[in-house]
Amino acid sequence: MTFNSAKKSNFSIRFKIWALFMIFTGIVFVLMWLLQIVFLQSFYPAFKISQTKKASKQIISCYENSSDYVEEIERFAVSNNMCVALLDNTGYTKASADVMNGNCAIHGGKVELFILLDKIRASKDGKLLMKIYNNNIQSKVIIYGTIIGNKDNPEGYLLLDVPLAPVESFIDIIKSQTLYIISILLIIALFFSSYISNYIANPITRITKSAERLAHGDYNTVFTGGGYSEVDKLAETLTFAEHEIQKVEMMQRDLIANTSHDLRTPLTMLKAYAEMIRDLSGDNPEKRAKHLQIIIDETDRLTALVNDMLDLSKLESGSQKLEISEMDISEKMNSIYKRYLEHSKTSNYTIYFEKQPSCIVSCDEGKIERVICNLINNAINYTAKDRKVFIREIICDDCVLIEVEDTGDGIEKDKINLIFDRYYRSENHKREVVGTGLGLSIVKAILQMHDYSFGVRSTVGVGSTFWFKIKR
Ligand code: ADP
Repeated sequence: MTFNSAKKSNFSIRFKIWALFMIFTGIVFVLMWLLQIVFLQSFYPAFKISQTKKASKQIISCYENSSDYVEEIERFAVSNNMCVALLDNTGYTKASADVMNGNCAIHGGKVELFILLDKIRASKDGKLLMKIYNNNIQSKVIIYGTIIGNKDNPEGYLLLDVPLAPVESFIDIIKSQTLYIISILLIIALFFSSYISNYIANPITRITKSAERLAHGDYNTVFTGGGYSEVDKLAETLTFAEHEIQKVEMMQRDLIANTSHDLRTPLTMLKAYAEMIRDLSGDNPEKRAKHLQIIIDETDRLTALVNDMLDLSKLESGSQKLEISEMDISEKMNSIYKRYLEHSKTSNYTIYFEKQPSCIVSCDEGKIERVICNLINNAINYTAKDRKVFIREIICDDCVLIEVEDTGDGIEKDKINLIFDRYYRSENHKREVVGTGLGLSIVKAILQMHDYSFGVRSTVGVGSTFWFKIKR
């Protein structure tokens, strides 16, 4: 048999983890390449220009604020590796620094200063920025100039000459370095990703194989987790599911065995008595009536059994919902009592009850009545010779305690936990006791649906008291 999941994936988790890891490494590789090699070429000059502009502001502020500006500017130029020329408005040099031993473009006559000053004056914002190649130092330089003071009436001019380091050779080094790093990274990623994917996938593969064995009905399958908490949890859940499936299957088997047994007995009786009427008692009205009565009783028993089976399956499957309404429990107990009182007159038992003041509770009236009647029926069925049944209603602050007591044989301690199970019947259950073996299971299902607590106290040879608490 094959089952189709909604969407089948063609790739194993191992492959997917490995592939994702490799994609991630690829992205790292591309990013590194772009940042180190492609952007460095444009990033470096831009960075230098912005540094130069910042430096020009610092030099102007030093010139305007310090009397010792000549030395200070020189020191600044040396530490920042730039040539400086600070001129007054006539073009006379007031401070200068040459960090290139006479090879500066602005000092060595490489460019004519007055041409630069003209360009500054002609510019819109009083600033000049140009990149030229300086053969003296075999490198490109940035020439930056700015007016000091007002553009229309300049106080002076500042010119800076900053060498640009040749990035090309640097980039070549980084390029080969990056290739080495990436190759090592790729090899590491290859091993690491296959290790990680095995680490994650192995427990899952193991559990899947176990689940396949379970699907084929092997309930001794052991689910082992290992490695990480999600798989441990999965193994735990599957082990729990395995036990539950096993339980359900056992219950199903028991149910079929019990049901067929319970159905067969009355059916055999029906057939036997019908044959008897046909072959023997057909002409004898007295005997015939007796046999017919047995047939009617057995049919009633069969009907009760089938009804209980249906009711219990509806309750347990959840297809029957609670219909909660307000009910006066004292009134209800009294009306049930009266009914049984009437019945007791012809059925040889005594029932006792003391009516309590009115008390309103919210519950499913029909179902709670069924619980009370099931418990009373059992008490009547299992009570001993003195045939006394006591029903009690005790109103407490948070609940109403309902008790049904009989003076029967009681239930042995080790059986108490079993009597609420479906089809449980004690060995001394007699056939003359009308019961389907489902009464207490129905009681349990209804009380659990209401979330009411319930239980039984019993002493062998003295009697049993079944109780439950209706929440207020
Ligand atoms: P049934 O009464 O049809 O056998 P129930 O589910 O009502 O089925 O009860 C299950 C079993 O619990 C009974 O067979 C009986 O052994 C035990 N039992 C129930 N009520 C009492 C009681 N009041 N006293 C002694 N045993 C009881």
